[in-house]
Amino acid sequence: TSRRDVRNPVQDYLERIVAACGGTAGEVAAYIPELAAADPDVFALALATVDGHVYSVGDADLRYSIQSISKPFTYALALDDLGVAEVDAHIDVEPSGEGFNQISLAADTGRPRNPMINAGAITAASLVAGEGPDEQFERIRRWYSSYADHDLALDEDIHRSELATAHRNRAIAHMLREFDMLGDDPEAALDLYVRQCSLSVDTRDLALMAATLANGGVNPRSGRRVSQVECVERVLSVMATCGMYDAAGDWISAVGMPAKSGVSGGIIAVLPGQVGLAVFSPRLDVHGNSARGVTVMERMSRDMEMHLMHVG
Ligand code: GLN
Repeated sequence: TSRRDVRNPVQDYLERIVAACGGTAGEVAAYIPELAAADPDVFALALATVDGHVYSVGDADLRYSIQSISKPFTYALALDDLGVAEVDAHIDVEPSGEGFNQISLAADTGRPRNPMINAGAITAASLVAGEGPDEQFERIRRWYSSYADHDLALDEDIHRSELATAHRNRAIAHMLREFDMLGDDPEAALDLYVRQCSLSVDTRDLALMAATLANGGVNPRSGRRVSQVECVERVLSVMATCGMYDAAGDWISAVGMPAKSGVSGGIIAVLPGQVGLAVFSPRLDVHGNSARGVTVMERMSRDMEMHLMHVG
């Protein structure tokens, strides 16, 4: 056999998964007009190891907005800026059992249930240090870029499109302001959150961001520490309990890894100490999670025994 015929087993495996887990179930998100224009049939899968190897198949260089996969990373930045106690005073860590866009605030304190749903994520963005929203956004952009080892940019069309139709998130931001969970300016907090959701990534970026979490906060490619271990452990715990919204229980039972989905069709999953996974397929199930993405992750978890509760 020639050198070219020597196949990498991980690459081979990923290609087999793509072939085995097809599917056209679900619908592309339509409530953000710009997302409704996405090609429903694109697909990408990437795996990054804690020693810095990144494997990918499908449309792995295709770029899309990060959407809610941003949430764990902004939460990590708020924890880094303010410490756990101060962040906890503003955002609880209890699964809401509700959809991502519900007005899930505790009735007595107004504290959002967790940082993985919109109410908690808008709050987390507002807590990020900086003189005004532009500096806060630039710190968020650089922070994600360190996780991805790649300079990420804003998708202006997505930002404009989402902001124009963000009625529900606007209502949530104003509710949070009423309960004193944000600074004074709910519109600025909303815009900051929508900007973070509009940062553009590809599936390899996401796998590396997940692998940085898997690696305890050190980016496996750059070797640079982005987050402290204690913060990463907190972020992974909240991803495990709340990352898949009202499907979090199904997910942890079937897949068994901390994860986060986004409405553009991405999902990341983290096997602590080992790998970060990312999948992209824009058709969503009723919870707003990528339908084919969930199927692929279930299959990989089973095949590679990645379920954290696996006991042989
Ligand atoms: N920007 C989207 C929103 O706030 C993110 C939602 C998501 O990805 N689930 O509605």
